[in-house]
Amino acid sequence: MTLQVPDARPEEVIALDHPQSGLRGFIVVHSTALGQGAGGCRLWTYEDDEAALADALRLAEGMTLKNALAGLPFGGAKAVIRRPEGDFDRQAMFRAFGEAVEALQGRYVTAEDVGTNITDMQNIASQTAYVAGLAKQGGRAGGDPSPWTALGIFEAMKAAADHGLGSGVAGLRVAVQGVGNVGEGLCALLAEAGAHLVVADIDPRRAERMREAYRAEVVGIDAIAETNADIFAPCALGGVLTPDSVSRIAARVICGGANNQLSSPDVAEMLMARNISYVPDYVANAGGIINVSAEYLNEEADQVRDRVLAIGPRTRLILDQASAQGVSPAIVADAAARRIVEAARAVSA
Ligand code: NAD
Repeated sequence: MTLQVPDARPEEVIALDHPQSGLRGFIVVHSTALGQGAGGCRLWTYEDDEAALADALRLAEGMTLKNALAGLPFGGAKAVIRRPEGDFDRQAMFRAFGEAVEALQGRYVTAEDVGTNITDMQNIASQTAYVAGLAKQGGRAGGDPSPWTALGIFEAMKAAADHGLGSGVAGLRVAVQGVGNVGEGLCALLAEAGAHLVVADIDPRRAERMREAYRAEVVGIDAIAETNADIFAPCALGGVLTPDSVSRIAARVICGGANNQLSSPDVAEMLMARNISYVPDYVANAGGIINVSAEYLNEEADQVRDRVLAIGPRTRLILDQASAQGVSPAIVADAAARRIVEAARAVSA
């Protein structure tokens, strides 16, 4: 079923409804101007369809911007599945999802996101070839994208520290919110570079692991954003930068992996007013999709590394341009990404 969306900015919105397997959610193909719409599949608990659709729309547009700015030959899309209450047949659900992806004939390429894993992707792959995030093979790109995401954030953070604080990360206090796949990898890189870590996670065992491995200070989840730190790295879920939290953040630089960190676009202006250098989330966290897209295109792991390392200079350019123009880095990044998409659209028109 294709829905009519009042604000028809995305190219396609597909409602997923397969009661036999419990599959319910949405695929949003935001743009195919640069190529097939690529973006992960999220499995999450949503209050209702409206909340799931709102998330999918936001995330899909974010993927268009992220893929464009990372120089990838992909448009933007995303899938959101509502986690059923109680037990459910996960294999059947992801097979049904694979059928829905197949029906789009390549306009959407899926991969892992929050709540989904390699086994889910293998079940999807039993129904369609439009899937990445499968197991790594030989020297080819592929496998878990999180270490690449963490490396990209680390490179962005070094560029932002140099821009905002005039220093490297050695000796700086970095507050990491959420030490899951991405946050943990980031902690490892920061510890090796000589940064002092402050961490928080709703799962106390994960935070404790960081204390044991890297002598990280552990603080409560309500204290991490305002803790005394030079850099704040949101690596849990989105929406953490709100007018309220921004007024209390002590850090001078924000750079992390979570998608959609700003609760609303005007929060970027508030960060600027507080003289906080903010690295737009999709600029910093593009390492994962860079790896996923290379896997899909059957490229080498070395090509992934080169593209991920380019996130540092790109971040520096965005922050420098934002300072020179007196606008927020979010505006500079969005404008650059939209220019790339529009240019592709003009060529294909
Ligand atoms: P994850 O589930 O492995 O880790 C998230 C961690 O955050 C978990 O340890 C969880 O317990 C913790 N957490 C949740 N709510 C919290 C809260 N309120 N306070 C503190 N900790 C909290 O997920 P991940 O793969 O590490 O991804 C983290 C973020 O980065 C997500 O927003 C994801 O969309 C984004 N991201 C991930 C990738 C990737 O390659 N994995 C790529 C791009 C973006």
